Amino acid sequence: HKYSEEHAKRKELYNHIQETKGNIRVFCRCRPLNKEETSTKSATIIDFDGAKDGELGVITGNNSKKSFKFDRVYSPRDGQVDVFADASPMVVSVLDGYNVCIFAYGQTGTGKTFTMEGTPQNRGVNYRTVEQLFEVARERKETISYNISVSVLEVYNEQIRDLLATSPPSKKLEIKQSSDGSHHVPGLVEANVENINEVWNVLQAGSNARAVGSNNVNEHSSRSHCMLSIMVKAKNLMNGDCTKSKLWLVDLAGSERLAKTDVQGERLKEAQNINRSLSALGDVIYALATKSSHIPYRNSKLTHLLQDSLGGDSKTLMFVQISPSEHDVSETLSSLNFATRVRGVELGPARKQV
Ligand code: ADP
Repeated sequence: HKYSEEHAKRKELYNHIQETKGNIRVFCRCRPLNKEETSTKSATIIDFDGAKDGELGVITGNNSKKSFKFDRVYSPRDGQVDVFADASPMVVSVLDGYNVCIFAYGQTGTGKTFTMEGTPQNRGVNYRTVEQLFEVARERKETISYNISVSVLEVYNEQIRDLLATSPPSKKLEIKQSSDGSHHVPGLVEANVENINEVWNVLQAGSNARAVGSNNVNEHSSRSHCMLSIMVKAKNLMNGDCTKSKLWLVDLAGSERLAKTDVQGERLKEAQNINRSLSALGDVIYALATKSSHIPYRNSKLTHLLQDSLGGDSKTLMFVQISPSEHDVSETLSSLNFATRVRGVELGPARKQV
């Protein structure tokens, strides 16, 4: 009883938020200057004066500043706990039957993995999410029984690789549509998990598998999308109702543009595939934000996989990760422009004097 009341109230609140703001959120996070930038006295070009109102300025030189607005802005001083506090209502909505997608976008080295995975001492969104799912599921155990399972995969060069598979797949992994309209990958391992330690083990296994077959793990991970899918099955013990929902947590490939002279052969193919999938993601979210009649999910493996959790009444959260350094200004502007487009709000060419 208590749960259904709470659920109804929550749903009403969500609908209200959706009507007024849509269900796409964009949070911008800036990493600190790294050791090298600090030692070479690299200048910080990000202005956080308006951060508490979601405003951010990029000093583009000649005393000019380009302004951006997001749902949240985190300066290097904001920690994992601050970030997760804002993401957590969205995470919990998975237990109420909503599909959710959270992803980190940005140039390599701006903290995508730090935000999503974090470090063992300073855990990120992935770990905190699952921890919270178990916690809330425990609080509700008298009224709802939850079953949670996890898949870990990577998309590299438009190919899906199962990071939990113990043997090579007998055939190429493809996305299929089920009779209920949802999408899945037949043959992908779904690990049933009952507590956070089991999840941790699964994540470690995924992360180890990612390293296999690549001679430079960091390079490889910057060129592939790492995707964690959490499936939640809920059974209401009062009325027997069952629901299924899915949460995607995605650490995207680096968004940097490679200099034309740098790329040939394999690298060129990789770069084209990354470009294609990140543009496809931007196009899908933009089409959703602007309520377009056609949503081009099929243009990349990434968007096709995420289809159930992008659009409809599902919720999307994008972290746009940026560097504070003057050396990265063009990539920073490119990421912020991408994120602005995704948010469906195009700001005019604001050029304010500093
Ligand atoms: P990406 O995944 O975008 O390539 P990483 O997550 O690997 O970037 O981050 C690059 C480096 O910067 C890592 O050493 C990471 O620990 C550090 N870093 C990133 N963001 C933060 C932050 N907000 N606070 C402290 N260190 C950070």
